[in-house]
Amino acid sequence: MDELKYQVDLLSAMNEKLRRDEKMLRLICDTSNSAFLYYSYAEDRYQTVANWDHFFPFAVASAHDLNRLYDCVEKQSEIPLREVLFIEKQDLQSQTIQVKMKDKPIYLEVETRIVYDAAGRPTDKIVRFKDVTKQNAQNDELTYLAYYDALTGLYNRNYFVRLVGEFIRKAEEKHTSVAVMFLDFDDFRRVNDGMGIIVGDELVQVFGQFLSGLMDENVVVSHFNSDLYCIGIYDARGARNADTIYKMIKERLRQPFVLSGGQEISITISVGVAEYPEAASNTLELINCAEIVMFKAKNMGKDKVLYYDGMILEEFIKNVTIENKLKDAFFHQNFLMYYQPQFYTATRKLRGVEALIRWKDEKGKMISPSVFIPIAEKSGSIVSIGMWVIEESLRTYAEWKRRYRYPLVMSINISALQYRQQDFVEKLTQMMDSYGVSPEELELEITESVLIGDFQEIMDKLETLRGIGIRISLDDFGTGYSSLSYLKGLPIDTLKIDKSFIDTVITDENTRIITESIIHMVKKLGYETIAEGVETEEQYRYLQEAGCDNIQGYLFGRPMPSEKIEELLADMTA
Ligand code: C2E
Ligand code: CA
Ligand code: CA
Repeated sequence: MDELKYQVDLLSAMNEKLRRDEKMLRLICDTSNSAFLYYSYAEDRYQTVANWDHFFPFAVASAHDLNRLYDCVEKQSEIPLREVLFIEKQDLQSQTIQVKMKDKPIYLEVETRIVYDAAGRPTDKIVRFKDVTKQNAQNDELTYLAYYDALTGLYNRNYFVRLVGEFIRKAEEKHTSVAVMFLDFDDFRRVNDGMGIIVGDELVQVFGQFLSGLMDENVVVSHFNSDLYCIGIYDARGARNADTIYKMIKERLRQPFVLSGGQEISITISVGVAEYPEAASNTLELINCAEIVMFKAKNMGKDKVLYYDGMILEEFIKNVTIENKLKDAFFHQNFLMYYQPQFYTATRKLRGVEALIRWKDEKGKMISPSVFIPIAEKSGSIVSIGMWVIEESLRTYAEWKRRYRYPLVMSINISALQYRQQDFVEKLTQMMDSYGVSPEELELEITESVLIGDFQEIMDKLETLRGIGIRISLDDFGTGYSSLSYLKGLPIDTLKIDKSFIDTVITDENTRIITESIIHMVKKLGYETIAEGVETEEQYRYLQEAGCDNIQGYLFGRPMPSEKIEELLADMTA
């Protein structure tokens, strides 16, 4: 009797285990995002499993039904698909191919696995169909992002710089010239403020489309940002030169642009032209000159083209009043430092602060660093201003450390010019010593502009800094030519995802795809991520889910004076 009860219990336990195993298997299949086709050699029978209906509206039970499967894919995918379904070569256990669906923008990865018995005869075959459309799109997006501007589809600034660099190299060899035309809409603010930035963006887009039609092997067109475009022309004295191109643009601008909302907008543009070798000998200077000439064209009443001559540059230099004011400000110490907190996404604990300079003019009005830093960079005074920033931030940091002993990272923005100073590392380490700030407490934020130039020298310097233990953070990632592939070899610790991504991450599917790939890839490379400009709870939650390590933005704290940071530190250490 006991024996029988034992047998029954055992059976029901086995049944229960089988049911659980089956349930688990089903769950795995269902959540795998894949469809499976199973084939039993012994029974000559096919069976479809898991998300099969998700991809195909019919079941496959016999070899005959497979024909319907071949009908679902594009012509060029058909033969590879037949082959992969029938691999049975001895020893071969699995094979994977990609097929494209017919009438649907879907890519499937098809993987076949075969199980053999001890005698080497196949017993079972399982074919997995997996949707890889998203991964494919991500790869495409990333290459795209490296070279093109997302709004207009024209070349982005950094790639343009490279292309014009090529033109100049070729021109040097062939003793010919290269022109750069700098284009800017007149009164673009009127469109943006009056009709909204969506209309403004569309205008930028349609004008960009028109400009792209001017491209050929000697003419490249780029959209820098907002309403700024640049055209590079190889052999600037040839049949297609700045003059003929300007005429073509003028001709087009006689007609208004018609936007999707039905608005008709007429614009005029101001254009500055500078040529290699007369105006400058390298790309960045050439672009700079063309920009200055464009400003001059604006000052002379807009809607015109102006060509570089030495006088324009001199006059410009004489007239940079901000630059003089800047010197004043430096002299009077009208600068002060603000600090913006950064938080760990997972715990919402304070991770560190970014030091951001502020300038109060004589009337006490704040002038934005995005206005005066570029000018200070052009004139070189950023070197001394930057030194002041470092010293002030380290001094403040030492205070905080003494009072709160909270493990905090101080991030300081470093301009390319500062970084290029011979004695930069030496001066920095001296200052750290004198304030007692250790290397791991310091992070230097650099932008890609630092990386342009003598590659080996830059790498060596970054390595030196990291060798000391100082963290390096790549700022504004995604705005330049930031190709992910070139990130691989960079000696950095942290990557800051630019605010422009965060701004549209909730509303734009493409931005989401790119942002997720960035986070994913950067993690793989072993760097830490910080999202900048996080303003809403929704953006925060999204980034948390996407696995972004740190968050910085108005949602958790604006840039603030040192005393306010101390309040945060007091909270954290309470
Ligand atoms: P950045 O390095 O990209 O700094 C982030 C900027 O984004 C800061 O602007 C900050 O106030 C702003 N920001 C942060 N969170 C949000 C947000 O949620 N919403 C919005 N709308 N903005 C946010 P800020 O302070 O005006 O600085 C502008 C730029 O000036 C900085 O951009 C940096 O490139 C430069 N800069 C500032 N301080 C220094 C400095 O000491 N040295 C150097 N070389 N550059 C500096
Ligand atoms: Ca920064
Ligand atoms: Ca930034």
